[in-house]
Amino acid sequence: MNRSIEKAMARPYALSRAELAELLALEDPAELFSAACEVKRRYTGKAVALRGLIEFGNICAKDCYYCGIRKSNASVKRYRLAEDDIVRMAKWAYEWKYGSIVLQSGEMESEENTLFVERVLRRVAEVSGGELGVTISAGEQSEAVYRRWLAAGAHRYLLRIETSNPELYARLHPADHSFERRVECLRALKRLGYQLGSGVMTGLPGQTLDDLARDVEFFRELDLDMIGMGPYIPHRDTPLGAGMTFTPADAAAQLRLGLKMIAVTRLYLHDVNIAAATALQALDDSGREQGLMAGANVIMPNVTDTEYRSNYQLYENKPCLDENASKCRNCLNWRVLSVGEEINWGVRGDPVHFRKGSV
Ligand code: SAM
Repeated sequence: MNRSIEKAMARPYALSRAELAELLALEDPAELFSAACEVKRRYTGKAVALRGLIEFGNICAKDCYYCGIRKSNASVKRYRLAEDDIVRMAKWAYEWKYGSIVLQSGEMESEENTLFVERVLRRVAEVSGGELGVTISAGEQSEAVYRRWLAAGAHRYLLRIETSNPELYARLHPADHSFERRVECLRALKRLGYQLGSGVMTGLPGQTLDDLARDVEFFRELDLDMIGMGPYIPHRDTPLGAGMTFTPADAAAQLRLGLKMIAVTRLYLHDVNIAAATALQALDDSGREQGLMAGANVIMPNVTDTEYRSNYQLYENKPCLDENASKCRNCLNWRVLSVGEEINWGVRGDPVHFRKGSV
């Protein structure tokens, strides 16, 4: 067996940055994937936790150069779901035993938006008797807002750092988007006691394997409980994606790198929750299942009403745009079973790392 893989399986945080980068460069990652899957199974067995994803709005104040719902993309029809509809989707996810939901939207900082989310959170707690796990993913906010949402019933927060390399971050965002503020938000969320999730995009233009290895170390520094990361997929209506050709060979390479990043992260951190992102499925029909086999233990099926999904295209070729939530549920069950794992219906699936306490 590869010496670094052996070392990493024995204990968390065992590898140097150079060793992490070496694993990410492996030509044949089969051994890497099976080792990562084995480490995952030590902590959570073959049980896959679900997060029903509700994309509750695409209005965004940010202008990230890679993102399809960036403020300056005039070809997107903007929406925010009605409170009643969000609560209905959450109730559906609860009754169908998803165990947890993620409420995700573009980023808005306003009292009106804070109150709206607060009301939704209270009502979701009500319809599920406080049993449904609730993640918010609504960007950078003040610590006071994070505190209010926690009090209203959210207990997980997902805020990707996108890249831990400040220079690369600066090339991917307009000058008024601050890397430091994003890190400060993550620290505030941790202080407040949220289960904390972050992650990066892999395969970004200009990103090196050393950057990705540094990202994995950064996950540890932030003491993350959950990792949500996925391959970058160009979107033609964005400055970064315009005019970019994306061939099937590019898609295969992006998928492979995304899977290797999942595996290396699992081997370094051991006990966190790692999501097999939808972006993996956009690259290959079985991308998420391959994610499970590379060390991921969470899937985020979309439970947003289909009529809204086409307006939440962060990247192109987003899968399941026209499948209703019930159809997704059956399809998912079958997909997970096909790789020898099982969905853990009706449980919140809190990260082992969080339950154990910080390192
Ligand atoms: N506004 C929230 C935030 O900033 O965290 C959540 C919504 S944001 C659209 C969710 C994630 O989509 C981003 O963190 C980013 O990593 C991902 N994303 C955006 N554009 C993408 C692209 N072209 N390819 C892959 N992922 C992308």
